[in-house]
Amino acid sequence: MSDFESKYAARELPVGAFVTRLGPSPTGFVHLGNLYMAYINMKLARQTDGVFFLRVEDTDKKREVAGAIETLISSLSHFGISFDEGVIALPDGTLNEEGSYGPYRQSERKEIYDYFTEKLLTEGKAYHCFLTEDELAEIREKQEAAKLVTGIYGEWARYRDISTEEVRERISNGESYVVRLNADYAEGQSELKVFDGIRGELTMPANVMDVVIKKADGLPTYHFAHVIDDHFMRTTHVIRGEEWLSSLPIHIALFEALGFEPPTYCHTAVLMKIDENGTKRKLSKRKDPELSLSYYTSEGYHPLAIEEYLLTIINSDFEEWRAANPKSPTEDFEMKTDKMGVSGILVDIEKLNDVSKNTLVNISAEELADFMEEWAMAARPELAAVFKQNRITLERAIDIGRSGDKPRKDLAYAAQIFDFLSFFFDEYFEITDEPPENVLAGDVNVLLLAYLDSYDHNDDRDIWFDKIRAIAVANGYAAKPKDFKKNPDDYKGHVGDVSTVIRLALVGRTSSPDVYEIQQILGEQKVRARIQAMLG
Ligand code: GLU
Repeated sequence: MSDFESKYAARELPVGAFVTRLGPSPTGFVHLGNLYMAYINMKLARQTDGVFFLRVEDTDKKREVAGAIETLISSLSHFGISFDEGVIALPDGTLNEEGSYGPYRQSERKEIYDYFTEKLLTEGKAYHCFLTEDELAEIREKQEAAKLVTGIYGEWARYRDISTEEVRERISNGESYVVRLNADYAEGQSELKVFDGIRGELTMPANVMDVVIKKADGLPTYHFAHVIDDHFMRTTHVIRGEEWLSSLPIHIALFEALGFEPPTYCHTAVLMKIDENGTKRKLSKRKDPELSLSYYTSEGYHPLAIEEYLLTIINSDFEEWRAANPKSPTEDFEMKTDKMGVSGILVDIEKLNDVSKNTLVNISAEELADFMEEWAMAARPELAAVFKQNRITLERAIDIGRSGDKPRKDLAYAAQIFDFLSFFFDEYFEITDEPPENVLAGDVNVLLLAYLDSYDHNDDRDIWFDKIRAIAVANGYAAKPKDFKKNPDDYKGHVGDVSTVIRLALVGRTSSPDVYEIQQILGEQKVRARIQAMLG
C-alpha cells in the first residue's frame, strides 16, 4: 500500500453519502452546462450529507485563461452553488484551498501522478513511447488507408517492449517521450460491463488503446489525472458530461491497472435546443446567447427560478413532485440519478419563463424588490439609483395583483419586470401607444379634462369608476361595452375606450394592470401631472 493511501484515508461519512466534484479546466467561458453539472453534483452531495468539492483541472497549460476559476466560482455562486472543499474563493474573491485531500489543482499534484506513472512502468503496465509527431501521422495515414481503427495499439505500439537500457539511452539523448498505458497487460477482456448511475448497466468494448498517461511536457492527461485524483480524493460519484462516455473503457482500464476501485460514473445528457428550423442540436457558444451563464444574470433570472428550472430538466419526476408540493423548498425534493435523461436535454427559454413566473409568485414583493436592486446594480447601473429613490413604488408596483386566490403570474425575470413597470418612474415614462380608434381626436382632451376635474384621489374604486362612466355617457360613449355592441350606431364607443384614454395618459400604453391600483401607487400629484401633460 502506498503512503498516499494512508495520507488520503477513506472519508468518514454517513452510509450512502455522495462525494462529488466539479473538475473545471480554467478556459474562461462559463456556460449553462457548468451550472447544470455543478448543481447536480452539489445537490446529490448535500442531500446525502456528503461532500462537494472543486478541483481545478489545469494540465492543459496552452488553453489556460487567467482569472477563469475566479470567474467560474463567482458566476456559479450567484446561482447558489458553493463548495465544501477544494479550491474556494475567499470573501475578497481571491482563491484558497480547503480540505485534507489536496492539493486541489492538478498542476500541483505532479508528485503523486509521477509516483503512479513509475509504479505502472515498473509493473510493465505502462511504457515510454518515443514516437515522433511525424511517425504518429504516418501510422495514422496507414491505418486510415487500411480502414483500421486509428491509434496506438497492438502491432502499432512499437515501443512496448524496448529494453530499459534503450529507454535510458534515448532519454539521456534528450529524446522527447510520452508514457503510455500498455493496454495488452489486460489481454483477454474484449467486453466491458459497467454500471452508469444514469444509464444503468452498459456493455462496451474494452479498451485496447495504449493511451497516453503522461504527456511530453511531464503533465498527466485528463484520463490519468482524474483517475488518480478521484481515487485519492475519495470521490464516490463521477458525474460528468456525455462527451466522456466513449472514454469510459480507458478510465476503467486505468483504475484496474492501478488496482483502485472505480467510483460510480454518471454521464449526464447534453444540453440541446430546437432551433428555428425545428432541428434539435447542441447548444452552441457561437449561435446561442442562452448558453452563456451571463445571459441569465444580465436578463435577471432569479436564482430560485433557475434552480427550479434545472430541476425540471434534470429529473423527470420533479414537475409531478412540485405539483403535489407547490410551496415546499427544493431541498425537500430528492434528486435521483436514475430519473435523469440519457439523451439530449432541451433548454427552452419559454419553458424557463413559465417556471420562473410560477416561482416568483411565491417570493415576497420585498424580496423581489431587493433582487431587482441587486440586478440593477450589476447589470443596469443607471437603474439602480432610480430603484433606490423609488423603493416603495418599486415594491408596490411589483405587488400589483399578486394577492388573492388568482395571483398574477406574469413576472418572469428582472429585465422583463422592469419593462413592465418602467412607467412608474418618470425617467422611463413615455407614451408609446395611440388612443383607441373609437375616440375621435378632439375627444381625447375633452375626456381628460373632465377626468381631471372629477378626480378625487380618495375616491374608492366604485365611486372612481362611476365617475368615469358618467364622463363616458356625457360625451356620447356607452356606459357598458355590451350596450355599444348591441347598438353601435347610437354611440361613439364605450366606457372601456374612455378608461383606455386615461390609462394611456398614466401608463403610456393601452394595456396594463389595474389603473385604480396604479393611481394609488403613483400618488395624486403624479396622476394629475401625467393627465395634464397629455392635455398638452
Ligand atoms: N476537466 C474536465 C472538463 O472540463 C472535467 C470532466 C470531469 O468532470 O471529469 O470537462
